[in-house]
Amino acid sequence: MWQAEVRVDLDAIRDNVATLRAGTTAEVMAVVKADGYGHGMLPVARAALAGGATWLGVATLDEALTLRRAGITAPVLAWLHSPGLALHEGVEAEVDLNAGSLELLGELVAAARRAGRAARVHLKIDTGLARGGATPAEWPALVEAAAKAQADGDLEIVGVWSHFVRSDEPGHEMIDQQLAIFAEALATAERYGIEPRYRHIANSAATLTRPDSHYDLVRPGLAIYGLSPLPGSQPAGLRPAMTARARIALTKRVPEGQGVSYGHAYHTERETTLALVPIGYGDGVPRHASNVGPVLLGGAVRTIAGRVCMDQIVLDVGDDPVRAGDVATLFGPGTDGEPTATDWAEAIGTINYEIVTRFGGTRVPRVYD
Ligand code: PLP
Repeated sequence: MWQAEVRVDLDAIRDNVATLRAGTTAEVMAVVKADGYGHGMLPVARAALAGGATWLGVATLDEALTLRRAGITAPVLAWLHSPGLALHEGVEAEVDLNAGSLELLGELVAAARRAGRAARVHLKIDTGLARGGATPAEWPALVEAAAKAQADGDLEIVGVWSHFVRSDEPGHEMIDQQLAIFAEALATAERYGIEPRYRHIANSAATLTRPDSHYDLVRPGLAIYGLSPLPGSQPAGLRPAMTARARIALTKRVPEGQGVSYGHAYHTERETTLALVPIGYGDGVPRHASNVGPVLLGGAVRTIAGRVCMDQIVLDVGDDPVRAGDVATLFGPGTDGEPTATDWAEAIGTINYEIVTRFGGTRVPRVYD
């Protein structure tokens, strides 16, 4: 018997990847970082590969090595490295690594020499996000050094890539500006003899809305979990994979004017029944959901009464016949009247990415369908 659980529908992830794959001529890199956006990196990776993904994308070398240790042999790109990491372990494990600066390129050359084989590298151009990657001014020096290292046998330049700033705002002029800078960076690389097999820039939003950005490889994360990166729309063919729910621990009748939970930030308006839901911020429920988070219980969506606690939340269910043991659903696919992770994000002023990611790796067991 479970008390609280996070269910993950792996068939949905497989099918979502297949849907994305069918919509493009590019290969699909399933982004499974941050424990698969809270869904569980290894099961998600396997489901995504079963759905037709040919690449996996993660942020850290550790995540990539975890995939390899689990026996996953598909190409994996890891893109976020501070200096001084044991990058040679990535080279030995045939993990593709990112170089977005001369310093990192140098570390990759050293890692390749230590590993005794060429490092598989993706060169990153910063087309405007101002996060990782070489600026357009730095780019010629980076490609020149990379071309030399490739000629020396230290590197194999597998990819050139970038990341969007505002692809979740379809039609925004920055998307075209970044694509133009990306095309220019590819042309510069070509002048130095670098013609990578994989050119990639599209995340979920661009995968869904900008086929002209797909190049050789798309890198959807959120969409493989069935969630939309685009405000106000649920893309056809995608099913949210995660459901978070808990069984009511107890109910009690309380009078009008009863203050509820820490700080009494909620007061009952009349005599009513309170239902105690055994899931809290220690399990991923954002504390900002106090007095605003939506939960389906007893056939109606109710708003959390008062503050979210570490282990529990309270619902005011009026005179409805709710009982201990009944199931309260915080979010799910939305097909049975429950809120979605997107509803939660809108209620508390964040993004659906954060909602699902918070529910990963907590004390609540994750169960796979
Ligand atoms: N590519 C990179 C470099 C990322 O950091 C991410 C996630 O943030 C993705 C792709 C996937 O983005 P999304 O989840 O919006 O599809």
